[in-house]
Amino acid sequence: MNSARLLLVLPCYNEEAILHHTYATLKHYFAEIVGNGLISPDSKICFVNDGSRDRTWEIIADIAAGDPTVIGVKLSRNFGHQSAILAGLEHHVDDFDCFITLDADLQDDIHAMTGMLEKHRDGAMIVYGVRNDRTTDSWFKRVTAEGFYTVMQKMGVPVVFNHADFRLMDRRVLQELGNFREINLFLRGIVPLVGFRSEQVFYKRLDRLAGETKYPLRKMVLFAWNGITSFSTFPMRLVLYFGVFNFVVAMAIFVYILTSYLFGFTVPGWTSTMLPITFFSGSNMMALGLIGEYIGKIYEEVKARPRYIIEKVVHD
Ligand code: UDP
Ligand code: MG
Repeated sequence: MNSARLLLVLPCYNEEAILHHTYATLKHYFAEIVGNGLISPDSKICFVNDGSRDRTWEIIADIAAGDPTVIGVKLSRNFGHQSAILAGLEHHVDDFDCFITLDADLQDDIHAMTGMLEKHRDGAMIVYGVRNDRTTDSWFKRVTAEGFYTVMQKMGVPVVFNHADFRLMDRRVLQELGNFREINLFLRGIVPLVGFRSEQVFYKRLDRLAGETKYPLRKMVLFAWNGITSFSTFPMRLVLYFGVFNFVVAMAIFVYILTSYLFGFTVPGWTSTMLPITFFSGSNMMALGLIGEYIGKIYEEVKARPRYIIEKVVHD
């Protein structure tokens, strides 16, 4: 079997401090895996500039000008990590056999790609890079990440624990991914939905060599929240549960107010104020939740995800 043509996609946002090093390291590694026949010599590296404010694009353009195996893609502004990855992938979907996405800071051990490519050669369509050692991450990042994966899973999103966006995908997977037309594409949740034979490779997450994280707490929370709300209407259902609960409590209070009134324990005006308040706040919240249910259904429909993906048909 011919060795696979690989495209490596790296999203870059303000990475001027590290790009040269990243390029040199990858180039060296590529020479090694081309040499041992793991990937074909037509394999390429694609740097996607996600609207950087520093010299990232100049560096990418410069590298690409001097090396035919490097592709530079420049987005018109900052679209975010996920969209940058997708831009690099979708733009080249027909030109390569398999695709690996990797952060430009090389925090993910590039040597794990060897394992990914071997598994792909043996038939895996998706290979997830999984961090089995996060000691270089802060205590806070580890705890919040663990919480995030757990919540996602509880809400029915088939996320792979401790897997970020370091993964290999076969071209076929990428083609199917193109049928998920939602704007808020949360790759970590979508890719497992595509199906096909999937495997994992494990690696140790390293420290960022230079530059700083583009994911401060604010962005991390936003990212997590986006992930949850673009996959699950559960938060909306909570409103309904809460509304029903409120209504039941309101009814109990209703009875209490009424009995107090009948037995004459109240001051004038109390009953006529309290009754409508409890009744309407309970029923309002319930009605809101009910409307939320329908909005949730609309939301599922407008995402227009494929209802199934056929892997293959025999005797057709
Ligand atoms: N990144 C991007 N667009 C953004 C933010 C980040 O393309 O708006 C890239 C960034 O250049 C890096 C990757 O996404 O290659 C992951 O970002 P970072 O290393 O800062 O995140 P962390 O590893 O700290 O979670
Ligand atoms: Mg990083």
